[in-house]
Amino acid sequence: MTATPDTKTPARKKLYVKTYGCQMNVYDSERMTETLAARGYDAVDTPETADLVLLNTCHIREKAAEKVYSDLGRLRKLEAERGTPMQVGVAGCVAQAEGEEIVRRMPQVDLVVGPQAYHRLPAMLDALDSGAGAQVVTDFPVNDKFADLPKTRKASAPTAFLSVQEGCDKFCAFCVVPYTRGAEYSRPAADLLAEAHRLVDSGAREITLLGQNVNAYHGEGPQDVWSLARLVREMAEIDGLARIRYTTSHPNDMSDDLIAAHGEIDALMPFLHLPVQSGSDRILKAMNRKHTADGYRRLIDRIRVARPDIAMSGDFIVGFPGETDSDFKDTLSLIRDIAYAQAFSFKYSPRPGTPAAGSEQIAEEVKAERLARVQAALAESQAAFQQGCVGETMPVLLDRPGKFDGQMMGRSPYLQNVHLTVDPARRGEIVPVTITEAHRNSLGGVLAGTHAP
Ligand code: SF4
Repeated sequence: MTATPDTKTPARKKLYVKTYGCQMNVYDSERMTETLAARGYDAVDTPETADLVLLNTCHIREKAAEKVYSDLGRLRKLEAERGTPMQVGVAGCVAQAEGEEIVRRMPQVDLVVGPQAYHRLPAMLDALDSGAGAQVVTDFPVNDKFADLPKTRKASAPTAFLSVQEGCDKFCAFCVVPYTRGAEYSRPAADLLAEAHRLVDSGAREITLLGQNVNAYHGEGPQDVWSLARLVREMAEIDGLARIRYTTSHPNDMSDDLIAAHGEIDALMPFLHLPVQSGSDRILKAMNRKHTADGYRRLIDRIRVARPDIAMSGDFIVGFPGETDSDFKDTLSLIRDIAYAQAFSFKYSPRPGTPAAGSEQIAEEVKAERLARVQAALAESQAAFQQGCVGETMPVLLDRPGKFDGQMMGRSPYLQNVHLTVDPARRGEIVPVTITEAHRNSLGGVLAGTHAP
């Protein structure tokens, strides 16, 4: 029998999403892909054959918008070379910050959608299809977004992200987040538990709870408002969910119950990213951080009492306007005191529209020299932590194939990459690994019990 072509089912289209920046953008890209799958798009890994390309952008780094414009220029060239039409959209924080300006500068762009509005992508595509011209949506209807996204999300790996909170009310003087992501919003606890169950049912063993200011989480619970600690406690009860993490936190939102949770909940991993930015009280005040360097030290002391093996991570900005040599030395001494397991450090660069952007800037060469010194201090501290792991046996979640045949990569409790030789069929298992080698950004190990003396 000859098969009759199905004339009713439209052909599936190809979607390429490029993700810039943080884990929240990784989460948002997954949700955009899921939303568009329901509208007939299958994800592909490169833009060459894509019908629709979405750039999910980040505004944190310097010249972020310029980088997006040059990527758009490359896409325009690619479309001309291949000779078939490509729809192009800009999502994320640059879309929020630039809005209509993107379409004005790059008329090839069909869609501009802010981080709180991407649930409207299908409707925006419908409008495009009906000939309505470029669509720009940058409102902040954050609660609509989560309510309107499909409830079908599955884990694609043993580790998964889950956005629980968005936006920020802190207004640090250097940061664009309160302007690009809007006011703090916490998703209802029941929705998060349902999403976590779906992730675990589809293979996730570890979930990282995400928020721009995640420990400010205060979501509607069945009877009362839940804190992040309460949410973590409830998630820890999910059968099959072995590990929970959360990021990024503000020191002022490390409540007593969250600190206690670190000591009481085995599934809450002993690794905490807690940015401080500077070790100088004068600069912390100018940054509008609303805490002192010693307040941060005391806070970490309390966290370490609750969970003695906790590994700390942080963020540092050097060369903030007004930073003197003495302020900078205070930052170096804080780094020595805390003994970070890892940390990120950046030169200050002004973000248009933020309070510090108009202040007198420190000379570039001074910033560069300070950054080199901070990075050397952090590298020393990280190397000591990595080296201290050699000889230890720790549970490692096997989450992805390694570079070589028969090799797997896994995650230690302290968020280190660990490579070892093990059957790839064991992906998703948590296995005891004896660490035999320490490198700058990874560890090497062997399955416990197989270590040659
Ligand atoms: S707390 Fe974090 S997200 Fe909020 S303004 Fe400060 S740096 Fe930005």
